Amino acid sequence: MQEIKIKTNERNEFVDISAQIRAVIRDSNTNSGFCTVYCPHTTAAITINENADPDVTADMLRKLSEMVPAHENYRHSEGNSDAHIKSTLVGNSVQIIIQNGTLMLGTWQGIYFCEFDGPRTRKVWVSIT
Ligand code: ZN
Repeated sequence: MQEIKIKTNERNEFVDISAQIRAVIRDSNTNSGFCTVYCPHTTAAITINENADPDVTADMLRKLSEMVPAHENYRHSEGNSDAHIKSTLVGNSVQIIIQNGTLMLGTWQGIYFCEFDGPRTRKVWVSIT
């Protein structure tokens, strides 16, 4: 397993980590298998979506914040319940096929670390089987 460090700059932000995941696969010399990308945080998430038009992630962040308002009658005293809810909605891991040493992502797909309670320094665990 490899750990990747990610520095986020906003409270809500999508960070494209595809290049870092590709580097882990390259260094592992894996020809075929599966790559699991896991987020060990309760206020962040991992997803795969379009990486061509940045408006897509902007729209997703806007819609998530609309569906899950930052301030509502939440009970959790830390004041970041919206981030916990978004984390569960988006999910904390993705699995991608590796074939011929290549990460099998669609043409327009990128792997995103989704920050919902930044800015912070975060980590992502990558496991190849
Ligand atoms: Zn909390």
